Amino acid sequence: MEIAGHPIGATTFAVIAGPCSVVTADQTVRVAQRVNEAGATMFRGGAYKPRSNPRSFQGLGDRGLALLAEAKAQTGLPIVTELLDVRDLELVLAVADILQVGSRNMHNAPLLKALGQTDCPVLLKRGLAATIEETIFAADYVRGEGNQRVVLCERGIRTFESSYRFTLDLTAVPILQERSGLPVFVDPSHAPGRRDLVTRLSKTAAAIGADGLIVEVDEHPDQAPCDGPQQLRSEDFASYLREVYRVAGAEGRRVLRATEPESASRSG
Ligand code: PEP
Ligand code: MN
Repeated sequence: MEIAGHPIGATTFAVIAGPCSVVTADQTVRVAQRVNEAGATMFRGGAYKPRSNPRSFQGLGDRGLALLAEAKAQTGLPIVTELLDVRDLELVLAVADILQVGSRNMHNAPLLKALGQTDCPVLLKRGLAATIEETIFAADYVRGEGNQRVVLCERGIRTFESSYRFTLDLTAVPILQERSGLPVFVDPSHAPGRRDLVTRLSKTAAAIGADGLIVEVDEHPDQAPCDGPQQLRSEDFASYLREVYRVAGAEGRRVLRATEPESASRSG
């Protein structure tokens, strides 16, 4: 499946990286430059944040979209960002190369249908209490309207276990691939909720055959308004990515760097 000039799925491995939320122009552009130089495939950043608590930080909204546009202008990286509300579709489409549907919106049929009527690829995150069948039904809402470019994403589900945020269901990866015929990514950040586990979960995801990752990384995670403890520090991202790409390569995948190492260091 061709997305933003990259062949996603089957024989390749992509990494979408960036902060949970975009907050300032400086932060957004610096993280984008870092992940680009390290060899990521695309940049992520949240402008509209789906928070459980209505009193928590909700994202910068359209001002956040402008920051993402700036990061794209500076690095050329394709942008992945969440569309929370169908009323913002036109605004988000103007910036996004992939529209993310968050876990809390996986069952939002009107949103899924609206995305199915665009030609923008969709990263559909598994609902936090959704079965594999329900996840594929959600993808079918998008595909049923015509848009076939859907990437599924396992991001952790609710179980009886309460020692970490969510249970990352890696068994779902090959099952979702087999049953949907779609590429399946893994989000290694939200399930553990701790950055010290992210590298191991990412390598395990690559080893079980995931087609890519979406991972949170920030310049100063300790100051982040949301999800700070799980975000990789941008200074550690290059060594993280080397380890993950080594496993993906050993599994026979061609890794998809947006920028080849030499030209990244020239531009940096
Ligand atoms: C996110 O990617 O920042 C996010 C909110 O993810 P999820 O919808 O999986 O909770
Ligand atoms: Mn997050």
